[in-house]
Amino acid sequence: MKIAVLPGDGIGPEIVEQAMQVLLALRTDGVRVEMETAPIGGAAHDATGDPLPASTLALAEAADAVLMGAVGGPKYDTLPRAERPEQGLLRIRKALGLFTNLRPAIVYPELADASSLKPELVAGLDLMILRELTGDIYFGQPRGRRTLDNGEPEGFDTMKYSASEIRRIAHVGFAIARKRSRRLCSVDKANVLDTSILWREVVTEVGAAYPDVELSHMYVDNAAMQLVRAPKQFDVMLTGNMFGDILSDEASMLTGSIGLLPSASLDANNKGLYEPIHGSAPDIAGKGVANPLATILSVAMLLRYSGNDETSADRIERAVRQVLSDGLRTADIARPGESTVGSAQMGAAVVAALARQHR
Ligand code: NAD
Repeated sequence: MKIAVLPGDGIGPEIVEQAMQVLLALRTDGVRVEMETAPIGGAAHDATGDPLPASTLALAEAADAVLMGAVGGPKYDTLPRAERPEQGLLRIRKALGLFTNLRPAIVYPELADASSLKPELVAGLDLMILRELTGDIYFGQPRGRRTLDNGEPEGFDTMKYSASEIRRIAHVGFAIARKRSRRLCSVDKANVLDTSILWREVVTEVGAAYPDVELSHMYVDNAAMQLVRAPKQFDVMLTGNMFGDILSDEASMLTGSIGLLPSASLDANNKGLYEPIHGSAPDIAGKGVANPLATILSVAMLLRYSGNDETSADRIERAVRQVLSDGLRTADIARPGESTVGSAQMGAAVVAALARQHR
């Protein structure tokens, strides 16, 4: 596999370095990966004036998968919108046609008390939120501002999904449910929105081809409530772009540890961009204390979805669970008074845990 590595800004380079060490360790074990690094975001703006230089996009397009750190930082907040680091990320997602966003929310037993919910509600949570990423109200036209007859300004956006857009994300959802516990909950607002009525019809129609997957439907307001009431009732949640944006953030916070959650954005051929869900954390950048596990777990997703290498993905996830049960904690997941390790020590511990799996 050819992997384009885009470290980005802030803690990005520090955590990506640890993820690369994990890939190098797997390479020693015979996993065939090649890595090439390129700038994105603020780092790319500093170097070229563009947050997504043509050479970075070309590298990403030629690769089988992209591993990203994070972009952004206060230094870039005053730039014109088109030059901001986040534009680099939005543009690469669009250019690569990444319409599926996968965000697992996993609560490791050792960290159940990091959640804002009671430990018994979240211990063992293993939820996958599947969000459509290139349609819906975020991209629908017309959108804009206009002036009403009475002189009052009005803002407007258009929510829309075509049947084919719904169908392709639904197929991904059912395929993923098949690899897990064969339950899929589709989230919509079909009691109010025409877009959602079509969404529900098409998901149901696609579901007929997956009789082994149990399909349920839930209104988004209820889903938001159920996620904090009894999150373990869900396995895979399928959502449109806006509902998924909100629910995936809600679900990630159930785990209480932003430094642990990976994500994947995939195209129609399972080529993907893999990144931690957190940002560039400028407050701790350069201190060597960032938690690299979300990025390391993003490598596991990369190998599973773009590399079709379930074995290596599983090995990485087991190694991460091992270091957590061995008691290693970066500052973000440590209890008050608990001793902590830095990014490099955490990365090295995962590499060591991988090596121990052979014994
Ligand atoms: P953030 O996720 O960067 O940080 C929020 C808090 O979580 C901070 O206190 C930070 O120190 C902590 N944190 C985040 N990741 C951590 C890790 N791996 N280990 C330990 N602690 C961690 O969110 P923010 O502060 O709102 O945003 C900072 C910058 O990141 C902004 O410029 C924002 O636009 C950008 N951002 C980028 C992405 C992305 O690249 N996908 C996503 C979100 C935010």
